[in-house]
Amino acid sequence: LEPAYQFMVRVRVPGGVATPEQWLVIDELARKYGNQTIKLTTRQAFQMHGILKWNMKSSVKRINDALMDTLAACGDVNRNVMCNPNPDQSEVHAEVYEWSRVLSNYLSPRTNAYHEIWLDGEKVVDSKESEEVEPMYGAVYLPRKFKIGIAVPPSNDVDIFSQDLGFIAVLEDDRLQGFNISVGGGMGMTHGDTNTYPQLGRIIGFCKPEQISDVAEKIITIQRDYGNRSERKYARFKYTIDARGLDWLKSELHERLGWELDEARDVHFDHTGDRYGWVKGIKNHWHLTLFIQNGRIQDKDDYQLMTGLREVAKVHTGDFRLTANQNLIIGNVSSQQKKKIVELVEKYGLLDGKQQSALRRNSMACVAFPTCGLAMAESERYLPSLVEKIEALLEQEGLRDEEIVIRMSGCPNGCSRPALSEIGFIGKAPGKYNMYLGAGFAGERLNKLYRESIGEKEILETLQPIIQHYAKERLDGEHFGDFVIRAGYVKAVTSGLDFHD
Ligand code: SF4
Repeated sequence: LEPAYQFMVRVRVPGGVATPEQWLVIDELARKYGNQTIKLTTRQAFQMHGILKWNMKSSVKRINDALMDTLAACGDVNRNVMCNPNPDQSEVHAEVYEWSRVLSNYLSPRTNAYHEIWLDGEKVVDSKESEEVEPMYGAVYLPRKFKIGIAVPPSNDVDIFSQDLGFIAVLEDDRLQGFNISVGGGMGMTHGDTNTYPQLGRIIGFCKPEQISDVAEKIITIQRDYGNRSERKYARFKYTIDARGLDWLKSELHERLGWELDEARDVHFDHTGDRYGWVKGIKNHWHLTLFIQNGRIQDKDDYQLMTGLREVAKVHTGDFRLTANQNLIIGNVSSQQKKKIVELVEKYGLLDGKQQSALRRNSMACVAFPTCGLAMAESERYLPSLVEKIEALLEQEGLRDEEIVIRMSGCPNGCSRPALSEIGFIGKAPGKYNMYLGAGFAGERLNKLYRESIGEKEILETLQPIIQHYAKERLDGEHFGDFVIRAGYVKAVTSGLDFHD
């Protein structure tokens, strides 16, 4: 008798946009085969946990029937292309989102193995395309995973500087001119190995929209050819660049492109968090951003979130947009439909986040225990209660509405991008965390280790006087991450090479 092996299934959602029909399929599979929950990930994908091995094939087939796939959701290839869901500027979003789909398709592996294993050889791409043999990835794929995101300033919700390759939309008069290109970001590191570190992407130039596939392909082939293949923990693109330098990268890129990037344009980011509630977009369509704590969709006795969203999906004619902060936008709601959606949102008490403290609205945790095999400490199951205790400290100082970005990861892989949070925690052992302070509110600066391997009591005792100090002496509009640097608690870290200094 075979043991009941169970799996996590991650469904790729380029740009985070899914149809109501696709939502209903994920919901059905999560209830039928999974653990009765859906996880919205920090890379705008769906995850379902606890799928037993003998249910895998029918799950993947059903996902493919709904025109989604799990191809390249993991592995040493380009992963889910992230994109700002941007309900405030929906015209630009529509255009930028199309580019994220173009990139995602262009960079997908061409292998037939996926279809042969999961779909009995059924072809879901045309036969000409399916006959190609990995023209870009080659025989041995990339040294490690590769991550791409597209940001639309002033929102840096996709944490563009955490991506191996980031495209930053440059707008003039609300029209897309092209993209600044950021290279070599990445969050992962290994505890105790200072040769590993989180790194910020660096801007190397500007390209026109129609050039992004060419740029992405050539950058990926550089990493394919020069990335470290002998030691996996040094195999990310950031280490390739840091070992050889940005000038080397640019010259290699220009040679492969056969043309040169333009000078980068001025762009400005304000924040990384989501903006909650209803906003009106183009064509009289509305978008509602809901707060989903740590991206976990499930029913509880007093909060029928999963059921509520299923009922919305049954009548919704627009789309669902997964945000990079693990929240959800009910997008493209027509004026005629809005009343019905409002009724359902009210009936099921689907939070729009405005009732939450500013700290909780800006909180993010990875999965960790019990379903992530790499976890060293709790994350998703613990952060909400820790936030409650920090909220109490903030409330004592009148700071409930002060936006502070707080993130937790159960291990130094950093799936919730904790190195870019003003207050960050990375798990070391059950109940013990490294605490980091001082990242930039707009995701432009890394944080720095402040206390090592501490538990909840020490976390709160450490934070309390800093919060009091911040309440008393912060400058007008000064963010917490900036304050802790000005006040001397930690040094500013603008390059991963200084992260461990
Ligand atoms: Fe990612 Fe580590 Fe969290 Fe697992 S425990 S989800 S690998 S950060």
